[in-house]
Amino acid sequence: MTQVYSDAIPPVAPPRRTTTVTGSCTLVGAGPGDPELLTLKALKAIQQATVLLIDDLVGPDIAALAPAQARIVYVGKRGGCQSTPQAFIHKLMVQAVRDGEQVVRLKGGDPFVFGRGGEEVEALQAEGIEVRVVNGITAGLAAVTSLCVPLTHREHAHGVVFVTGHAKHGSTGTDWRALAATCHSARLTLVIYMGVSGAAHIQAELLTGLPPHTPVAVVQHASLPEQRHAVCTLDKLTDMLQVERLGSPSVIVVGDVLQGLQAVQAREPASQRAAA
Ligand code: SAH
Repeated sequence: MTQVYSDAIPPVAPPRRTTTVTGSCTLVGAGPGDPELLTLKALKAIQQATVLLIDDLVGPDIAALAPAQARIVYVGKRGGCQSTPQAFIHKLMVQAVRDGEQVVRLKGGDPFVFGRGGEEVEALQAEGIEVRVVNGITAGLAAVTSLCVPLTHREHAHGVVFVTGHAKHGSTGTDWRALAATCHSARLTLVIYMGVSGAAHIQAELLTGLPPHTPVAVVQHASLPEQRHAVCTLDKLTDMLQVERLGSPSVIVVGDVLQGLQAVQAREPASQRAAA
């Protein structure tokens, strides 16, 4: 389209540039580890960040996607390791937003699945700061998918329960017996996060409501090159963890959706099984 300008029309003044920089905060799910499992939205947010607060479950390949000039603050917290207090993380985020930074809080998996994302949103909102949240693929989903196993199946499981094996200190913890009975009667797949260190207790409690031959898989470092997994029955869980030396971060999956995988493994020669 051609536009004709005449002297009679006064030129329109360009819009005044505002000099106030407004900060923002986005909670971004980094997924289980493989950078290719990031969403496009997550990648965009990371690339536009000026400050990134990163959890220790987020690997260097993902941190490397941040702009070179962005400031990266590692605020990892792992059971038993030195960790940044949650209140301090809240303070850092609030201050950075007030300083006009584009803050990305990068968390492993999905920010709202055992990631304390809810607490962080509340803390920011309490300070009048608007928060955006970008989903990530949660470890439990990535773990079973990496074994080519579905979380639900018309024949085997009508739903899924994501549960933590590591309850907040001082709380009563998970009622594993009730959960076992429900998973059995309602035919649900049980996906346990942070369950390896408490596996003996979890196994004993689950056996009160689930049959001993219920299939179980443990997947460590899901989606990463160092991923390892093992499959057994519920009554052998702790023995298997010791033999296979599977540690954190791992997801424990319990349920009949694993029957197909069990059958495949039973057909494999022992030499191939050891390589899992
Ligand atoms: N927000 C995360 C979970 C954080 S809790 C998510 O949605 O995935 C931390 C726990 O997640 C770990 O102890 C472990 O149980 C699980 N986890 C995280 N990444 C994992 C991975 N790559 N493989 C297996 N388990 C993982």
